[in-house]
Amino acid sequence: MSPLTSITLHHDYADALPELTVDWSAEEQPDPHLLVLNEPLARELGLDPEWLRSAEGVQFLIGRALPDTARPVAMGYAGHQFGQLSPRLGDGRALLLGEISAADGSLRDLHLKGSGPTPFSRGGDGRGAVGPMLREYLMSEAMAALGTPTTRSLAVVATGRSIPRAGGPERGALLVRVARGHNRVGTMQYTRLLDGEGGLTGRLADYVIGRHYPELAQARHPHRELFTAVAHAQSATVAQWLRLGFVHGVMNTDNTTLTGETIDYGPCAFTDRYDPDAVFSSIDHGARYAFGRQPTILGWNLARLAESMLPLFDDDPNTALEWAQEAIDAFPGIYTAARHASIGEALDVTADSPLVEAYLSLVQATAPDLTSFHRGLIPAAEGDDRMVLSSVTPEHHGAVESFVASWRKTSPDAATLARLHPIYIPRNHLVDDALRHAERGDLAAYQRLLAAVTDPFNASSQLLELVGPAPETFGPFITYCGT
Ligand code: AMP
Ligand code: MG
Repeated sequence: MSPLTSITLHHDYADALPELTVDWSAEEQPDPHLLVLNEPLARELGLDPEWLRSAEGVQFLIGRALPDTARPVAMGYAGHQFGQLSPRLGDGRALLLGEISAADGSLRDLHLKGSGPTPFSRGGDGRGAVGPMLREYLMSEAMAALGTPTTRSLAVVATGRSIPRAGGPERGALLVRVARGHNRVGTMQYTRLLDGEGGLTGRLADYVIGRHYPELAQARHPHRELFTAVAHAQSATVAQWLRLGFVHGVMNTDNTTLTGETIDYGPCAFTDRYDPDAVFSSIDHGARYAFGRQPTILGWNLARLAESMLPLFDDDPNTALEWAQEAIDAFPGIYTAARHASIGEALDVTADSPLVEAYLSLVQATAPDLTSFHRGLIPAAEGDDRMVLSSVTPEHHGAVESFVASWRKTSPDAATLARLHPIYIPRNHLVDDALRHAERGDLAAYQRLLAAVTDPFNASSQLLELVGPAPETFGPFITYCGT
């Protein structure tokens, strides 16, 4: 019997919120073949990697061979894109195949990106190209290995199509994505736009609580608590981005999840130097989503969430407004606490240690390569400052040395730090090179980089050329939106 018959794909979301979904099927692919498969993740989901590599397994991965009970849907959502509201965005090239029970008992969305046009495509072709799909796979799996809440990637399948793109035709591909959930701030905006009274918004909020924040169901004001829980979850995620030097690049409200998972790795990139103004995306002309603006933008997106949830906060509109204002005003404090906690952890000190403030001033003043700086703290804890000094230009050596000297007095634990600070991150010059080769069909460099960034804390002597920032000759880096 085919393993397909033993796979259970739930349609929990489609059943609970039919107004937000459209029944839809993935398109057929002329010549699908697997480019990359995440075997550990497959096992976590109870899927047999060997079978996934078979012809039938690949048909499953592209959404064409599904268990009889499956009910794939395109999800509707709205979103502010670069500050401008689009009332109806939705899955224009994506599908929720269904939910699958993971090893830990929780439900995970099994989702396709690049699976063909849907009623939400708005003129787009509904497809993805090999480069951007492999890019999302690599970046999301690197972020997962670094401990950042994120959607995961199960596979990239080349479709055999040629798809037109601005720079000429490209090879088509789709990404199989796995997430705890795909509800976004933009989903709540969508429900609010669809229903004047708040009934649908309330049901969405209840669904999100039931699935992601079950402990809130018993609270006196579960919907208020939900808003605050999302603010906390997202703050922890964005604090992690800032520690790593990660620039998401397109923090539209439809790309801000209610679970706190990082989602939609389009034009994202890591900075080689701490730079609040760093922007990589070719379309972010106003630097709206610059590295250092990400916490502010999160606050803006959460204000949109509060607006959407307003009728849920209280039956009395004035009380609801007052509460919303208080909640929005509380955000900077929530984010700052998350940032301090994250840096306290990075330094192996408490969040209220004066060293946290000293660190924040230091990185601002000395613009280190954050990865080398943090990794350099491990030998520095034991008196060897060479690596930490190599992360800044010589004129900043004095400032770094004096910071490290006072930090060392706290007796930080080198072994703890070694499990926290990566050697390998997906640096732009490496990603660029790996994708250039992969687009031409040679996946060797991609596989090497993927191996390094998904095991980022362990030095491998074969991968030494993957350490450190780009050479000067690499020049400024630009990303193009992941379409
Ligand atoms: P993103 O920038 O990936 O977050 O996508 C923003 C919106 O554009 C979403 O509604 C996507 O579904 C849609 N979209 C992006 N690329 C395409 C495409 N090639 N075809 C149709 N819709 C697309
Ligand atoms: Mg998106």
